[in-house]
Amino acid sequence: MSLLEVKGVQTFYGASQALFGVSLDVRQGEVVALMGRNGMGKTTTIRSILGLNRPRAGTVRFAGREIAGMRPHRIARLGVGLVPEGRRCFPNLTVLENLLAAARRGAWTLDKVVELFPRLGERRAQYARTLSGGEQQMLAIGRALMTNPALLILDEATEGLAPVIRADIWTAIRRLKAEGQSILVVDKTLAELLPVADRCFVLEKGATVFAGTPAMLTPELQDRYLGV
Ligand code: ATP
Repeated sequence: MSLLEVKGVQTFYGASQALFGVSLDVRQGEVVALMGRNGMGKTTTIRSILGLNRPRAGTVRFAGREIAGMRPHRIARLGVGLVPEGRRCFPNLTVLENLLAAARRGAWTLDKVVELFPRLGERRAQYARTLSGGEQQMLAIGRALMTNPALLILDEATEGLAPVIRADIWTAIRRLKAEGQSILVVDKTLAELLPVADRCFVLEKGATVFAGTPAMLTPELQDRYLGV
């Protein structure tokens, strides 16, 4: 059974339709890549899963339960954790306070998060606003993990970061996968994303046009769906 199952979702912004039938699923322990060129509907899909946009048609099932139309905080409480684009943390709380404010019972504890990102341990007493962009991103991931989500969603988590920091984040993602964390990832870095993904879904003009393993996503298909 899939942990998350999105089927035929159609979502609108006012009168303007953004999703025309998105389907994807994430099984327990999988890393699933959600791909597509700019404006194809990745963020809207994530917003539809999280309850930030209510799908007008289709279903979103999480852990066997229909969640389309539920309020975002209820969906979060069911175990969907988001690392948002643009790494939002509380700027005037310290690293430690940011992490503890997110904490919920489960395998991910402060110690484990700090072990995953030792930098957060070194900076524990600093205000989040004084962190570098990469450190803030680590903190955003750390915060999401502290909620012990059954499904972690990463939306462009490596965007705009220095190469060394990106490498650290990919290392962390591979470790999360090794620990059995289920993850849905949106990222443009195919060279990093494809090797770690168990399966991928590609969106074009608001609809799923490819579903399969990374090996099935041949260079020709990559060029067709993702090339510039
Ligand atoms: P990107 O990689 O650029 O973030 P994306 O694949 O995440 O793109 P979306 O942001 O989901 O794509 O956008 C899908 C479609 O919905 C686009 O046509 C976009 O113009 C439209 N859209 C997104 N946000 C809004 C909004 N707030 N109001 C109206 N239309 C929107």
